Amino acid sequence: MSTQKLATKIIHAGAEPDPSTGAIMTPIYQTSTYVQEAPGVNKGYEYARSQNPTRKALETALAVIENGKHGLAFSSGVAATDAVIKLLNPGDEVIAAQDMYGGTYRLFTKVFEKYGIKFIYVDTTDVQNVAAAVTAKTKLIWIETPTNPLMNITDIHAVSKISRAANAWLCVDNTFASPYLQNPLDLGADIVMHSSTKYLGGHSDVIQGALIMNDDSLREQLYFLQKSCGAVPGPMDCFLVLRGIKTLHVRMKQHCENGYVVAHFLRKHPNVEKVYWCGFADHPNYNIAKIQMRAFGGMMSFTLKDDSIEAAHKVLSSTKLFALAESLGGVESLINHPASMTHASIPRDERIRVGLTDGLIRLSVGIEDADDLVEDLKQAIG
Ligand SMILES: *Cc1c(COP(=O)(O)O)cnc(C)c1O
Repeated sequence: MSTQKLATKIIHAGAEPDPSTGAIMTPIYQTSTYVQEAPGVNKGYEYARSQNPTRKALETALAVIENGKHGLAFSSGVAATDAVIKLLNPGDEVIAAQDMYGGTYRLFTKVFEKYGIKFIYVDTTDVQNVAAAVTAKTKLIWIETPTNPLMNITDIHAVSKISRAANAWLCVDNTFASPYLQNPLDLGADIVMHSSTKYLGGHSDVIQGALIMNDDSLREQLYFLQKSCGAVPGPMDCFLVLRGIKTLHVRMKQHCENGYVVAHFLRKHPNVEKVYWCGFADHPNYNIAKIQMRAFGGMMSFTLKDDSIEAAHKVLSSTKLFALAESLGGVESLINHPASMTHASIPRDERIRVGLTDGLIRLSVGIEDADDLVEDLKQAIG
């Protein structure tokens, strides 16, 4: 298995013909419980919060495509993050990236701080800041790379050396890159987190999350939290992500190609001030992106020369192919206003401090024809 190339692994990961019929596609085991022969005598399935065959096939696939040993699926990306933080105890400290996904920031500050877990936010793009924030209480380092929405890159391998020395776990939110572009476990991370809602599902039709890890004890602890807290995805949703994964590589290839075209178009546009995309050679951490990522994807943000909310709103309401919506990673192109949509839960001064300005516009470049996407942006930006 391990010698196979990614495209082959993606198609075949976790896919065994159904033992009872030979069905090539994993059936949707829509059941809450399993009949036992005698108390405790069963086929390894007792109750569907703990085990479900459709979920198991997906979890196997998740592990394979991230080069990990174990996968766990959750009812959302945020539920997966929630499980990781529940590994901790009151008094423990987490070092986290300062410009990560707004929902992660909200979960940390509004839910977990009151349980006595301390979060220290640093600019992780300079790993010295991470090293400087380590204390005897540091139990977890949480990074996102590329970040949402500023496309900042953090050196996963360098941070993993710091986490190892501190005896802390390193968890990487790999949602933006997807396993097609980046495999954090290979670079020293302990846990990979995904919002499977995005590129893994790929069709904007499901909410789901995932954790992938190598360590057996970590898997046991996280599995315990998955079944004890109960944020499990239903079998239909597992089927959808399993099916989405089968085309991850072909979709990502096109996202990358279209992303390249759109990013270069925006950069040359006279009304555009700045384009945030990690494939530009002058991106601050381009040399790291080049090493840890296979290509640069279809996510990007930009600001207009006129950085007012009004100018941004004009563009946001003028695109015809790019739909104005939260989320990302689907086959269709989306346009988003982080300040009022995905990142509205971050206080304004906090947002501005990290560079997430009122006028910033985020794009999830889909897999339509790149020329049509450029035409759409051209008419919208003017
Ligand atoms: C969407 C997203 C999440 C949260 O995932 P949900 O599936 O919406 O719960 C976490 N991190 C990143 C980078 C995201 O884009």
